Amino acid sequence: MDELSYSPVYDEKTLHFLDQQFSRINDECYVDHAGATLYSNEQIKKSSDDLLQSLYTNPHSHGVNGNLTEDIVDNVRYRILDHFHTNQDEYSVIFTSGSTASLKLVAETFNFNNDGSAEAAGNFVYLQDNHTSVLGMRDVTFQRGAKVVCIDHISAFKLLGCNNRNNDSPKDRKNNSLFVYPAQCNFSGLKYPLNWIKNIKQGCLNAHVKTNSNWFILLDAACYAGTSDLNLSYYKPDFICLSFYKLFGYPTGLGALLVKNDSAFTLQKTFYGGGTVDIVLSSKMHHVKRQSLSQRFEDGTISFLSIISLQYGFQILSSITMKSISEHVFSLARYLHHSLLLLHHENGAPVVKLYADTNYKDKNLQGGIVSFNLLRANGDYVGYMEVSNIAALHKIHLRTGCFCNPGTCQRHLGLTDRQILKNYDTGFTCGGTSDLINGIPTGAVRISFGYMSTVEDAKIIIKMIKQCFVSGKEVLKVPKWWNDFEFQLSTKYKGVVTKIDNDFSPIKTVSNEKSPDCQNVITNYNIEVRDRNCRLAKIFIYPIKSCGAYEVQDSWKLTSKGLLYDREWMIVTSAGVSLTQKHEVRLCLIKPVIDLKNNELILNYPDVPSIKIPLLISSYTAEKNEICKGKVCRHKVEGIDCGIEVSEWLSLALGRPNLKLIRQWGSVKQELSFASQSQYLLVNLSSISWLADRIPKTSDLDKSTMLHRFRSNFAIEGCAPFKETNWKMLEIGNCQFEVEGICNRCQMICIDQKTSEKTVEPLRTLAEEFCGKIKFGIYLANKNNKNNVLKVGEEINFN
Ligand SMILES: *Cc1c(COP(=O)(O)O)cnc(C)c1O
Repeated sequence: MDELSYSPVYDEKTLHFLDQQFSRINDECYVDHAGATLYSNEQIKKSSDDLLQSLYTNPHSHGVNGNLTEDIVDNVRYRILDHFHTNQDEYSVIFTSGSTASLKLVAETFNFNNDGSAEAAGNFVYLQDNHTSVLGMRDVTFQRGAKVVCIDHISAFKLLGCNNRNNDSPKDRKNNSLFVYPAQCNFSGLKYPLNWIKNIKQGCLNAHVKTNSNWFILLDAACYAGTSDLNLSYYKPDFICLSFYKLFGYPTGLGALLVKNDSAFTLQKTFYGGGTVDIVLSSKMHHVKRQSLSQRFEDGTISFLSIISLQYGFQILSSITMKSISEHVFSLARYLHHSLLLLHHENGAPVVKLYADTNYKDKNLQGGIVSFNLLRANGDYVGYMEVSNIAALHKIHLRTGCFCNPGTCQRHLGLTDRQILKNYDTGFTCGGTSDLINGIPTGAVRISFGYMSTVEDAKIIIKMIKQCFVSGKEVLKVPKWWNDFEFQLSTKYKGVVTKIDNDFSPIKTVSNEKSPDCQNVITNYNIEVRDRNCRLAKIFIYPIKSCGAYEVQDSWKLTSKGLLYDREWMIVTSAGVSLTQKHEVRLCLIKPVIDLKNNELILNYPDVPSIKIPLLISSYTAEKNEICKGKVCRHKVEGIDCGIEVSEWLSLALGRPNLKLIRQWGSVKQELSFASQSQYLLVNLSSISWLADRIPKTSDLDKSTMLHRFRSNFAIEGCAPFKETNWKMLEIGNCQFEVEGICNRCQMICIDQKTSEKTVEPLRTLAEEFCGKIKFGIYLANKNNKNNVLKVGEEINFN
């Protein structure tokens, strides 16, 4: 079967324009537009030119020419309403800090009790598949007396597609009820039917909640509005929440609540402040709130400069048109989805488990999002952290986890409430890094396209998956379950939508045969090499945290904190945070040398003259060296600033201003120096050769750089590969150590410590060999070692 072809939606002119607007993306692949989309050059330029040429005042001040700012802000309100095909006769714009704030505002002010009598309050009804910001509303509305009702995905489609209209007269409607749902799911990209609005208004849910209510609909358009056209002249929800950075990237911290004027009476607020009152007495409890809805609800001074910049964002969207944008992102998502659907391992097993709610055939039902997990040839899941690490190496910015949408995530992953609570007990939290628990994923990988995304972005993702996650030769074929799924969509659900039933789950079609390469290598590794004599081969110290290594020639002193001078210094930025290779790869090019004879630390950097720093604390002077306090990796640290000279040297070397070299110091007993994890890290040279042998010959890795990538303190030789992972204690010469655990690796091992270049290996092979558990090397801690000396070549005993 052939690769899929793609036919572009945008014309040449648009493509050229976008190329210019987003040249700064370079070779990065940004596919987290449902998280935040990117701002265009033009919006930023026009906004800043505007600010530079104008004298904007507080919109509440009336000065020289009335108030220009107020007029412009009102124009922006018209512009927003116009974008959604409506005007101020029908809707009002309340500026908020974003969708979440808009949802909170409705939760806090919506009146569930129609006539204020003691009659029971109405219902707060929400879809299980909602954003956490909506879930947060239920606790507030519950406190305010509402009955809280959750509707699951399947029931929603059954209940809300109804035709059984309520024939009650408005007089019988005792109270107000609120229904909240997303216009587009930020997990699967499903576009929920907007005709639900009318159905609910007509009483479609009355039977379900067993009361006759006046129904109001809050549409969460945060995800939808970014890439789709919301037509309020046809669909008329009572409330709509938006965040502008999801439409055009800038500004952040600004959103809106659109309110249908006819429904505004249901929002009843208590607080007032700033310009939201017509009159207020300061000595008595008397005030009258403003009549105009936006004036009544926008407490304090609105974000007027940001609001002004919105017009330039809308200009761009309307020049491309929302219609083209939604077709464009849909076509990219379809291309990616179908390509992943076809992809199989050489043994015929699928590579991707897709979490789709539609068959990607209809742009009115599907937005520009594809969510999935990857599968190994034996059917095991690949943890999303592994995918995220590998993606980062390919400069792909994607999102992993549950994307603040626990309901949809749970539905697609097939997790029960009990499983989720159990996972929580074993350490899983939202946004955490436990991606697989007992082999079952706790989240997924999400690709979301924006209006400036290109088919190249989709191709880069497909290429990364083929390169790193397909075992053997790739096979392209349409899986059998897909035809069943499509058939089901066309009959049972009449082409509408809904979930892929679990019986069609692709993983079920995979045989149970375990692939031989993934048999928990750590414990079962059958080795040819016997332990000869296990010896300490090399000692490294890293005087400055996250910088180059210094290799000890003969012997080195151990202190209660670790190896003498190991991670005794660190570089901090002007913001007081410690700089690491994660953010500045060139740190590895700073090569420190310790000269014990002259008591000096010498720092070297390519093409920069070296600099010397005294080793002895006694040579620091009060006027030259200040004491700094800061936070490193959530630990409070205290240190001595090593002075302006080295600070300038660092800035010269790294080309970053205002860096400081801080030496660890403090009366507080700090058992660890600036080391992030443990006192010592040990790697086994035989394990490294074992791994090196498994890295494909075609890879970009120079195998001689392997050892340094693991940034260990000790390298041992003569021991069988992975023997170290079973040790509890060890003795080197007459120093004793306790094993604290196996080291979890991240992308840092992909930085060639000699050149600071990033590669995909050895992380990819390590992940593949160990079924996604990226672990290598062991952590050690001192056991009764005070002022001992370690010698290179000493024998190692262990148990
Ligand atoms: C992003 C998003 C939100 C929250 O938006 P904020 O800007 O973080 O307040 C709510 N709902 C959906 C569907 C979203 O995609």
